[in-house]
Amino acid sequence: MPVKNKPPRIVAIANQKGGVGKTTTAINLAAALAVGGLKVLLVDIDPQGNASTGLGIDQSVRKGGSYALLSGDATLAECIIPSGVENLSIVPSVADLIGVDLEFGGVEKREFLLRDALREQSDADVVFIDSPPGLGLLTLNGLVAADAVLIPLQAEFFALEGISQLMRTVDMIKRNLNPVLEVEGIVLTMTDRRNNLSEQVTNDVRAFFKQMVFDTVIPRNIRVTEAPSHGIPVLLYDFRSVGAQSYLALAAEFMKRARAKKVLA
Ligand code: ATP
Ligand code: MG
Repeated sequence: MPVKNKPPRIVAIANQKGGVGKTTTAINLAAALAVGGLKVLLVDIDPQGNASTGLGIDQSVRKGGSYALLSGDATLAECIIPSGVENLSIVPSVADLIGVDLEFGGVEKREFLLRDALREQSDADVVFIDSPPGLGLLTLNGLVAADAVLIPLQAEFFALEGISQLMRTVDMIKRNLNPVLEVEGIVLTMTDRRNNLSEQVTNDVRAFFKQMVFDTVIPRNIRVTEAPSHGIPVLLYDFRSVGAQSYLALAAEFMKRARAKKVLA
């Protein structure tokens, strides 16, 4: 595998709330950037393994996965496997991840396991980390390893409370564990223009977080839900669907923002 000198941009996709579109965004934003020619690595640190399954990664090829990476049993190069999408590879999830909080809870520098593992060079331009729900040791490792956090937010009633808690956590990590961590942005997911509450929350989130919120929103779309059961991103499942087109637009906006900050060429 060719190795670049420039380290990749590492982006954790996180929100402690479950089911808000973290994994869907991880798979489909990663795929949209990869289709655009970027070398993308997706690291699945969720014991549920939805990103790995959604990309059709069979259990038999997962080997040690991200658990081996965190525990130092394998190098990054040994853990990376190709996905079915050109330019997109993955460090898959394995069942052993379930025990990480207990197993590494007493280990010194336990928050830095992923950061240290990802220091090894790869050919990736961007690394996405798909975090589990909650703010346990796995999520913390993702946020400590990352340059930035991308927050999918479902436009619903308790959205603002949840995100305030996440922002406080990000501040705490910035002060104590990872001073470079920034908020890449908030992505509104599963929006529904026919639903007044969804519209109201969208407006409130934009009024409060302003330019931190991506202009692109990801509407609720059945094709997005169907694609993972075929083991492919929505872009390959139904290119013309609203879901696929929204993730392409999000990828374009992600690149535009990254170039403006000079963090990606
Ligand atoms: P968890 O916290 O459990 O890891 P998550 O935040 O990763 O969840 P997803 O698994 O991405 O959330 O999405 C939750 C559910 O919502 C899934 O069934 C997914 O298919 C569905 N979903 C996500 N985005 C959309 C969308 N734009 N349109 C329709 N359904 C969606
Ligand atoms: Mg998930």
